[in-house]
Amino acid sequence: MAAALRRDIATRAASLPRPPGLAVLLVGDDPASHVYVRNKIRACQEAGIKSFESRLDARTTQAEVEAEIKAFNDNPAIDGILLQLPLPGHLDAQRLIQAIDPGKDVDGLTLRNIGALVSGMPGLVPCTPQGALILIKTVREDLSGLHAVVIGRSLLFGKPMGQLLLNADCTVTQAHSKTRNLPEICRSADILIAAAGRPEMVRGDWIKPGAIVIDVGINRRENGTLCGDVAFDEAVLVAGALTPVPGGVGPMTIACLLKNTLEAAASSPRPHEILLK
Ligand code: NAP
Repeated sequence: MAAALRRDIATRAASLPRPPGLAVLLVGDDPASHVYVRNKIRACQEAGIKSFESRLDARTTQAEVEAEIKAFNDNPAIDGILLQLPLPGHLDAQRLIQAIDPGKDVDGLTLRNIGALVSGMPGLVPCTPQGALILIKTVREDLSGLHAVVIGRSLLFGKPMGQLLLNADCTVTQAHSKTRNLPEICRSADILIAAAGRPEMVRGDWIKPGAIVIDVGINRRENGTLCGDVAFDEAVLVAGALTPVPGGVGPMTIACLLKNTLEAAASSPRPHEILLK
């Protein structure tokens, strides 16, 4: 799915008068973030999206990061801005996210884009939940009336995922660390989405037979290998459809980042449109 989406984006990007531009801003030296940024930049190159990269020292001040974001906002060759999270602890992440021009906010985290999602208006939708929804819809197009359980309520994933499913007419249960009887709630889910960041927490007997299970978690086991929030070997015997980790939601997140960049480029005023104003 991710490869097909990336191919489609490459074709559409090539038809624009100039290549879409994505700026990636990385502050500090979190090793996982460096790997994610490298993968995103490679995916951009393959899709004909021009990448602009800014790697700042872990001691960079709030004002310096804000100035970098402002420069990206003002650069007409840049259509999308991605501020790689997490940020070093001394930085106010929310203030920096809100400094991004909402029209270039390809992570969909500014108040305007969150508001658009909640009110069902056009806007840039966060990449990971958007990718998860595309995967769910490959299994079942009409989600109306289905019970969806989302484990997690973060701003980055859980909340927008719940909202997207609500917009698709699901009945949504948003679970979190204070939820009681989680296994029982999960057993009633037609769609189960795990994004708690707890290795293999969701067991096979938490899953309703035939359910669509989306595993968002990325966890590192003690032996260094990756696993999700779902015990894959157990879940695969019960679920109707199940995403693996790695190789499931992750590639879709990157494909949706490119999709958002393309959409931001397509809706930003072209030079001739500016002249006509
Ligand atoms: P987060 O901000 O840490 O949020 C985790 C959420 O899970 C919180 O709402 C928390 O509840 C809930 N939770 C934690 N332990 C729980 C438990 N035992 N039972 C029920 N709920 C529990 O994490 P995030 O940013 O949403 O990411 C979640 C996972 O997805 C992480 O593993 C992350 O690496 C992965 N991720 C993957 C991608 C991708 O592209 N594949 C993208 C984003 C995130 P409280 O609110 O009560 O604390």
